[in-house]
Amino acid sequence: MRLRDLTAQAYEVPLRSLWETARGKSDIAYNVRATAVLEDGTTGYAEVSPRSYVTGETQESVLLAIAQNGAHLCGEDFLGLRAFVEVTRRLMPDRYSARALVEMAFFDALARSWGIPKFRLLGGAKREVRSDLSIPIATPEQTAQIAREAFAQGFRHLKIKVGGLGVEDEAQRVLAVREAAPGVILRVDANQAFDPEAAVVFIEWLIASGVPVECFEQPVSRTDLEGLAYVTQRSPVPVIADEAAVTPEDVLRLIRAEAAHGVNVKLAKSGITGSLDIIAIARAAGWKLMMGCMLESSMGIGMALHLACGTGAFQYIDLDSHHLVGEAKEPEEFQQIGEVLRLKF
Ligand code: MN
Repeated sequence: MRLRDLTAQAYEVPLRSLWETARGKSDIAYNVRATAVLEDGTTGYAEVSPRSYVTGETQESVLLAIAQNGAHLCGEDFLGLRAFVEVTRRLMPDRYSARALVEMAFFDALARSWGIPKFRLLGGAKREVRSDLSIPIATPEQTAQIAREAFAQGFRHLKIKVGGLGVEDEAQRVLAVREAAPGVILRVDANQAFDPEAAVVFIEWLIASGVPVECFEQPVSRTDLEGLAYVTQRSPVPVIADEAAVTPEDVLRLIRAEAAHGVNVKLAKSGITGSLDIIAIARAAGWKLMMGCMLESSMGIGMALHLACGTGAFQYIDLDSHHLVGEAKEPEEFQQIGEVLRLKF
């Protein structure tokens, strides 16, 4: 199958409210969308949300990479997705999100041309999943208010961003969520903010206080493999690597170092085939898998949902950034019913 045209467009998404994590604040997501036109005229679409603290890429660098390389990907006859991805790796070796974007647009076009829903091409394990909702860094009062609203909407899993305020204040915020949303299972994401000792004190205190924390994401710097292993050896709950795990090679390195218990897979990091490779490695190692997102609107979340449903590989689903985006239309490919995300196919 040949591509006739491959272009990318800036896609700025205003967020409904300020999004703050230990990595910074934003009120706009600077995303990129791509359009891939096959030789038979079928058009595919995709969206990526590049985050510089994860892959080193920005909206500008993704747009530039595709402006420079899009034409080189047109005209060649590709047997399928893996053949296409090999060429993108050669053209853009260190552009993870840019590669993911063109891969997803090509895959979307292929699936449409073949008339087969993407989740079926990816294995067809299931049609729906249950996602958490993420709570940004905010005051304990605001944190509790968001948790109450999420509970009322049907969410029974919440992911709390921590690390901006220090161990004691962050523990108080997590307690405030437990009070506001009783019985809800909590996931905690520090976005690299703690040092290893503080991370262990924090998670041990939460568990000793009876807070139902299910997993602890990226407690320390992504470059501190030893620190991550230190927390992993001591944490009473599974430690999940996110920023430390961009490529399948990263995941293998983490597994060898016993530096986590699982990995957060995101399309902006590893695309579709890279994510499939990570899933295979993690499954073989008995590691846990989270399907995560950056700040994508419903188009990007839809692709991640196809991967999650197609593979059925994920213990934790964190596909929620479309809630942050004030989109006028209902998502094209899925419905949200409480915490359930269901593909429309
Ligand atoms: Mn994370």
